[in-house]
Amino acid sequence: MPDIFLNAPALFDLSGRTALVTGAGSGIGQRIAIGLAQCGADVALVDRRTDGGLSDTASLVAAAGRKSVQVAADVTSADALAEAVAQTEAELGPLTLAVNAAGIANANPCEEMGEDQYQTLMDINLKGVWLSCQAEARAMLAHGKGGSIVNIASMSGVIVNRGLNQVHYNASKAGVIHMSKSMAMEWVGRGIRVNSISPGYTATPMNTRPEMVHQTKEFENQTPMQRMADVNEMVGPAVFLLSDAASYCTGVDLLVDGGFCCW
Ligand code: NAP
Repeated sequence: MPDIFLNAPALFDLSGRTALVTGAGSGIGQRIAIGLAQCGADVALVDRRTDGGLSDTASLVAAAGRKSVQVAADVTSADALAEAVAQTEAELGPLTLAVNAAGIANANPCEEMGEDQYQTLMDINLKGVWLSCQAEARAMLAHGKGGSIVNIASMSGVIVNRGLNQVHYNASKAGVIHMSKSMAMEWVGRGIRVNSISPGYTATPMNTRPEMVHQTKEFENQTPMQRMADVNEMVGPAVFLLSDAASYCTGVDLLVDGGFCCW
């Protein structure tokens, strides 16, 4: 006889949990951080500078009745991430939830791109996710309470965006998807789940960059839902994958793309 008395809404409750979100000062990371607080979590807000949007995020976390800490850390620095995790646990308790959303995007034709442009993006988007997961998982493995990590990849890790010359970005996101599956398998027997979310075109400051802003109409036309995602539409998928509602999900890449990858 199955347990028909499962309290389904409670599966999404994050009360009493401590989360860390990178890229929490803007866009997708910011909205997810606020959403986690609304679901009951205290949240460490990590971004490379504290003079950006972090204080806005912190105000909205407080408005949701939850605690936060603001931490300036560059995701390319293992030491800075270790310090961010230590500060998080000292102020908010054992870390069991993490979202790695920090990232950059830019474009240049492949044959013209310099090594610096390639390497800087790879260091943030791919190595930065690895270092973030490593720092988070070290804490989760040490306290033994398990954990759930969500990395923000992109549909660009699955398809090639028509009209955008961004081989480095696309490769970095394909790397995030497969790296997430690889880490999921390394930690599958030790209570840590790792999944990724691959957003489609989403209205955030990232899409105000010069090579994108004139293409917004084209992005909408290419998307089966005929619109870009509102940034709030990334919150539900993140809460789902982090929460006990996804207790049997690990190594999943969840496309949140308005149907883009179907066509
Ligand atoms: P965003 O609004 O620019 O937010 C990214 C945040 O990451 C910014 O606060 C940024 O700080 C921070 N950051 C950048 N480099 C960092 C570093 N080295 N260390 C710490 N923080 C750093 O962009 P978004 O659109 O929300 O993007 C969030 C994630 O979603 C990215 O990984 C992106 O690739 C992915 N994504 C976005 C879309 C989209 O259409 N928007 C689609 C698919 C995937 P600064 O402002 O100081 O640079």
